[in-house]
Amino acid sequence: MSQRHVARVVRAVDTSDGAGVKLRRSLGSGQLDALDPFLLLDEFRSDRPGDYLAGFPDHPHRGFETVTYMLAGTMEHRDHTGRTGTLVAGSVQWMTAGRGIVHSEMPRQVEGLMWGFQLWVNLPAAEKMRAPRYQEFPPEAIPLVSAPGGARVRVVAGACQGVAGAVSGIATQPLYLDVALGAGATFRQALPAEHACCAYVFEGSALFGQARTALAAGELAVLAGGDEVALGAGEMPARLLLLAARPLGEPVARYGPFVMNTERELQQAFADYRNGTLTS
Ligand code: MN
Repeated sequence: MSQRHVARVVRAVDTSDGAGVKLRRSLGSGQLDALDPFLLLDEFRSDRPGDYLAGFPDHPHRGFETVTYMLAGTMEHRDHTGRTGTLVAGSVQWMTAGRGIVHSEMPRQVEGLMWGFQLWVNLPAAEKMRAPRYQEFPPEAIPLVSAPGGARVRVVAGACQGVAGAVSGIATQPLYLDVALGAGATFRQALPAEHACCAYVFEGSALFGQARTALAAGELAVLAGGDEVALGAGEMPARLLLLAARPLGEPVARYGPFVMNTERELQQAFADYRNGTLTS
């Protein structure tokens, strides 16, 4: 096995989206436009209702997947077909927008901590216009693995220690792990050498690779060059998302909620949304 090293560190920037939800964006922030096939990573965390209650009213998506993973609070969603659901703390929704979804995503508690992530994952050209699909799992349906070295790992997608994640059948063969490390704990994860990989630290600070490069909460590491990720915590506990997937290597034409391969397809998506045929 050869260990990946930290090729780049991106510090998440404060921004807002939707109807003014305050969040921290690492991928898709302008510092790092994308890490093929990952297009965006947002962390939203606030105990001030004014930061999140306005939520994300009706908006469209086409051509990619949105992954919402909640740590605290609840998120109610509703789409153009009338499908509704509530994501509680510890649950995940992997939504394949395909040819078109119009939905709202609304935090529903009026006080208390709201904390979670949204990741955008690109679809290959051949699947951009596929039928939409949801994979949604409550906390108890996401396997929890106690790994050698002391890490406790929630396996959202991919596999860890031979345990398959909750989400399956995704084109880019993603790995999505929530890794919790006590002080001094270590963790190793094998992955295909050709897959893109990054880690986003959201509690404490973690050490990566043979160089033991330290990253603090709110920092994303691009992990390059190897078929194994090795990481650990120092004197304090740490928690992070470890993400990997197969790069698509296809042209990207993206604007706002649409991610296509060409400008023409992008313009078609806007036209379809305007004339009401995005989802038909
Ligand atoms: Mn959305």
